[in-house]
Amino acid sequence: MNLSSDWHIHSAASCDEACLQIADLVLEAPAQGIQDFGVTDHIHTPCNLPDLAASRRAFLAVRPSPRFHFGVEVSCVSQWELDEIATGRHENPVYGLRDGGPAGGALAIGVTADDLQAHGVEYVVGGAHWPMYVPFERKAVIRDYHRQNMFLATHPLVTIIAHPWWWMGHWQNAQGMYLAEPWFDSFKVIPQSMHAEFADAVITHGKVVEINVQAILFNPQYPEHFRLEYMDYLARLHARGVVFSVGSDCHSAHYDIQHEVPFARAADMLATVGIHDHDLWRLPARKGGKVI
Ligand SMILES: [Zn+2]
Ligand SMILES: [Zn+2]
Repeated sequence: MNLSSDWHIHSAASCDEACLQIADLVLEAPAQGIQDFGVTDHIHTPCNLPDLAASRRAFLAVRPSPRFHFGVEVSCVSQWELDEIATGRHENPVYGLRDGGPAGGALAIGVTADDLQAHGVEYVVGGAHWPMYVPFERKAVIRDYHRQNMFLATHPLVTIIAHPWWWMGHWQNAQGMYLAEPWFDSFKVIPQSMHAEFADAVITHGKVVEINVQAILFNPQYPEHFRLEYMDYLARLHARGVVFSVGSDCHSAHYDIQHEVPFARAADMLATVGIHDHDLWRLPARKGGKVI
């Protein structure tokens, strides 16, 4: 079995190191068996809106097929930083304001319904990318990430919750590995009650949960046992009726799901817990082939 869709791909318009040209993507993805896919560059705060406009221009420039879609990846941020940035006194805050905000304050995303409509966005991938001003303490970070995932799972503009429990940026060892906090010594430190609450919210609100191949399943900085524990987590969500999408999270110069992001291996792993390509969420082809 293989996977035939990919709903999380970054292009050169992204604010980070991503450098894939959309003109290359539309040739390389179908050539590797990807039938339905979308580009999703980052929006952290309105500061990145010009990136979304650039991504849209590159998308339109390739005269996209009805099965190639335009999406966006939004970060969970704080209302505090959106308000601060709106004052104009912070210089080029591409990643928002990652210090100084209130722990437990109101959460937000950096786009409005009008922004999405203006840029022709067909679906929104939303993810927790950083702790929201809580101390680097295991329990505090777990509570905070759960709060962010719940916020995204209930947000009217979010379609897909990206990479639940992805982690980066603190607690790396000298080799760059994450082996202990926040949940890499044992994924069981996250209470099952949180997973149950998340699954219920996802289903109630008609959301989709992403299976992220590169940043989660084959993240070289995560220990092997984490992958197995995460498969068990996915199996439990699946048993509760959660619908999944697949995302490569490609940030490379070329789209490669044979070597760099091993989709076939991911498909085999997912099959062991009863998740198959035909179970996965996908956007229908645009009617009449027209871009919106
Ligand atoms: Zn992400
Ligand atoms: Zn991403």
